[in-house]
Amino acid sequence: MKPVQRDRVDVAGGSLELWQGDITQFGPEIEAIANAANSSLLGGGGVDGAIHRAAGPALLTECRSLGGCPTGEARITGAGRLPQRHVIHCVGPVYSQRNPAESARLLASTYRAALRLARDHGLNSLAFPAISTGVYGYPLDEAARVALSTLAEHLATGRPPRRLLLVLYDDAALRAHQEALTQLVEERSLRR
Ligand code: ADP
Repeated sequence: MKPVQRDRVDVAGGSLELWQGDITQFGPEIEAIANAANSSLLGGGGVDGAIHRAAGPALLTECRSLGGCPTGEARITGAGRLPQRHVIHCVGPVYSQRNPAESARLLASTYRAALRLARDHGLNSLAFPAISTGVYGYPLDEAARVALSTLAEHLATGRPPRRLLLVLYDDAALRAHQEALTQLVEERSLRR
């Protein structure tokens, strides 16, 4: 499904947007998409599989040369056949019920690593999937709070990228992120 915009807030002149659909279906107006990868960077299921299928074999060839990526970090490549300039491969944590604080620290670190790479490569727009909320088992409402507050904190610095999209695949993920956005808007007095 081609992504549809569902919600948006303004943070310090930047845009934090919730979309629903398939992250591989954006056009070149979105300069980069983030991938929820595993630490081998050699492809997997879920959104990773969809991105590699859409990008074609050149993406995997490039990923092979990177030698993996630790949890909480990210790596940048070209985008193969996708119309974006780059794919940013993010390795989020497998959720730990015994240590949710450490999971939150690693998830926020993953988003921040991707934002740093985007800025260093002169990108102004970046679309993220809901990292770690699939096979990695992160509860949607907790992941949504971490993702949205980390992205809002970035926008509040005034630095690029200034247009950040979270692309939710199903209704449950969209609902969780809309609720987290409502909470964030109230806490930080943002304009919706
Ligand atoms: P992880 O291993 O980080 O949990 P997954 O790919 O299993 O990664 O899931 C991450 C999120 O991406 C899940 O919420 C899943 O529903 C979603 N997802 C799966 N395919 C797509 C897609 N094509 N576009 C956007 N999101 C997707």
